[in-house]
Amino acid sequence: MRPFAFARPSDADEAVRAVAGDPEAVFLAGGTNLVDHLRLGIARPALVVDVRTLTSREITGTGDGGLRIGAAVTNSELAADRRVREHYPVLAQALLSGASGQLRNMATSGGNPLQRTRCDYFQDVTAPCNKRTAGSGCSAVGGYTRYHAVLGTNAAPDASAPQTCIATHPSDMAVALAALDARVQLRGPDGDRQIEFTELHRLPGGDPSRDTVLQHGELITAIDLPALPPGTRSAYRKVRDRASYAFALVSVAAVLRVADGRVTDVRLALGGVAHKPWRATRAEEALRGQPAIEAGFRAAAEAELAGAQPQSGLDGGNAFKIPLAARTIVATLRWLTPEA
Ligand code: SF4
Repeated sequence: MRPFAFARPSDADEAVRAVAGDPEAVFLAGGTNLVDHLRLGIARPALVVDVRTLTSREITGTGDGGLRIGAAVTNSELAADRRVREHYPVLAQALLSGASGQLRNMATSGGNPLQRTRCDYFQDVTAPCNKRTAGSGCSAVGGYTRYHAVLGTNAAPDASAPQTCIATHPSDMAVALAALDARVQLRGPDGDRQIEFTELHRLPGGDPSRDTVLQHGELITAIDLPALPPGTRSAYRKVRDRASYAFALVSVAAVLRVADGRVTDVRLALGGVAHKPWRATRAEEALRGQPAIEAGFRAAAEAELAGAQPQSGLDGGNAFKIPLAARTIVATLRWLTPEA
């Protein structure tokens, strides 16, 4: 581990200035991902700035009937909140499907969405990896791809190309927030701003090293959940190799409202299939206004996955994810519409 300086500023503004002023500085919140990276040599900061106590640890109602989640609220606290369990079950279920009880007690609402991929090659500092070392290549192409992406990748990823990355985003919470149309409150060196949660994460594009659109030194201070109209139901379904403490092979966050047998509102996001929480806009379009029936759910899922690109690999590849994602979308929507 590279030695680093440690700072505990007195407020968020001071923390932002400290990180923005040093290109080798990072924020530390719950530390459930960063501490691993320090030990593995993936993160080699010169300065670690502790923000754990500098943002709100409260969940408060907003004027429009939604909720504001302070960035320091732990995953356990958020999942246990009565308002979250009653009005946003998709979020409570996603949180409880992630990690372990001990990790959820430490992980924060601001930090969880910023955790980095668990691609084995990213975590092995001896392996070429464009995300960790720009331009070094992508060891996952032609390697073990069971946990890798099928959406949002290049049609034919090239292991030696500097922009190739087929990693998936690991957060369950982020998939639920993408489906809920959450908004992210940010504080940066240029002041405060807010962005749609669906805009926070990015596809690898020409620079796989960047997971998000955040500028260096920008800090998540809160996440806002909009109010959901009466009659809205939501659920999170996660398919994984073990019943607990495992990342998603495929997950689905669904927010659905049905009236007179027709879909009046639907928001779907997928996890375990792309470099970012994948908002399934094609499926949403195919469902909106249509009868809430299983055949329609299946057609919508197939429309979303029509552009999926499976990866071959030493472990048999990940083509299985495409029908698995379709079945998981159908099962989640069916669960939300027992009358269908
Ligand atoms: Fe690195 Fe991405 Fe390739 Fe994994 S998939 S080895 S994170 S470039």
